[in-house]
Amino acid sequence: MRYQSTRGAAPELDFRDVTLAGLARDGGLYVPVEWPRFTADQIAAMRGLSYVETAVRVMAPFVAGSLNEAELRDLCARAYGRFSHAAVTPLVQLDHRHFLLELFHGPTLAFKDVALQLLGLLFETFLTGTDRHLTIIGATSGDTGSAAIDAVAGREGIDIFMLHPRGRVSDVQRRQMTTVLAPNVHNIAIDGSFDDAQAMVKRLFGDAEARDALTLSAVNSINWARLMAQIVYYFYAAVRLGAPQRAVAFSVPTGNFGDVFAGYVAARMGLPVARLVVATNVNDILHRALTSGDYSAGGVTPTATPSMDIQVSSNFERLLFDLAGRDGAAIAGMMAEFDRSRAMTIPADMLSGARDLFSSARIDGDGMALALRWAQEHGGQIIDPHSAVGLAAARGLEIDADVPVVTLATAHPAKFRDAVERATGVRPALPARLGNIFEREERYQKLPGDYDAVKAYILAEAARG
Ligand SMILES: *Cc1c(COP(=O)(O)O)cnc(C)c1O
Repeated sequence: MRYQSTRGAAPELDFRDVTLAGLARDGGLYVPVEWPRFTADQIAAMRGLSYVETAVRVMAPFVAGSLNEAELRDLCARAYGRFSHAAVTPLVQLDHRHFLLELFHGPTLAFKDVALQLLGLLFETFLTGTDRHLTIIGATSGDTGSAAIDAVAGREGIDIFMLHPRGRVSDVQRRQMTTVLAPNVHNIAIDGSFDDAQAMVKRLFGDAEARDALTLSAVNSINWARLMAQIVYYFYAAVRLGAPQRAVAFSVPTGNFGDVFAGYVAARMGLPVARLVVATNVNDILHRALTSGDYSAGGVTPTATPSMDIQVSSNFERLLFDLAGRDGAAIAGMMAEFDRSRAMTIPADMLSGARDLFSSARIDGDGMALALRWAQEHGGQIIDPHSAVGLAAARGLEIDADVPVVTLATAHPAKFRDAVERATGVRPALPARLGNIFEREERYQKLPGDYDAVKAYILAEAARG
């Protein structure tokens, strides 16, 4: 498979190089030059397959030319062998039509593990036998950091530098990162917000001195391989609920538009998806964009669902690219306008194209808490606040009564114990697989919110390794 940039001015790459590069050189995001398609018979043949076998079928077209089927199967078996549930992403039924797709059975308790466990192995596979040394730089508001660190800790040929805003991630989230003492893991707590950390990372990627000294790569969802791994569970769940004969709707707690974009790709590949619900918290740029075409970024309001406290959703560009008939120059123009003014209007024809498949809902703190209690009282489930935002949106969806509605449960409730306890009176216990993170030694570097200090630290540490 070949990949092209959404801004039309970067070279086409194969899967291997797209995985290692992360962002395209023209500032765009990589997408396959065409969506592979499965026939109804091919989808029906996925019935009864294990998660790993489903993953091999769904991802094989995307990795063609870079990995053969046996190599892909080996990587999937290793990545998903680390999950604590034999079904990897089990479905749980809440009432006659609502289901949860539990995506949090990986090592760090959020759905990010599904993609990052595979990505860590892909990096290692593609670096073996080369003399390339990869320096991964990321910023995290919590979940991506721990999942990425777990996925690459101790791996040959890779260093990871993860910036988090000091004092603004939960204790569980911080300790999941800082108690990993492998020498290739470098945690940095900066004074400032997540947006400050993210801005420094973006600046490093554009810094000629840093780029000359290091081979930089990204682990956030601008990396295509992450989205690819997330397509799998849409197939896995829908086939279990009757696809291809029966269509299924999905509700997705959304921040950076990565997870829900994977659902869009599944639909383009032939999976009968009746609706994709983009569920946002009060940081509702995507809800405004999908209802009125108003894609304008405001300030970020902190909520009990921090992984969705985002105002600029990077992966939305991938959808706009498709909706614009894959016109890279048009997207480059739109994104330049957005960078200048922090606002753009989605043209009416593109908006109506999006609304053929996508619905959206904005769920505030009360709506989230109500859904947490509904899951507890009617479904017998303690869920996390992000999943509750998705469930609230799912319950508000108007759709034919015979369509099952699957809410993606994106985090384990123990990761957000305080908010869960406030709404339900139940304090979820930390699963044993987290280990004794509250007793282990922590290691991280505190740095001021100053770009030059952070850059100097990273260059010096990388030179030491
Ligand atoms: C990252 C995250 C999200 C948002 O996913 P996107 O792919 O950024 O839309 C939702 N819930 C949780 C728990 C997350 O960690």
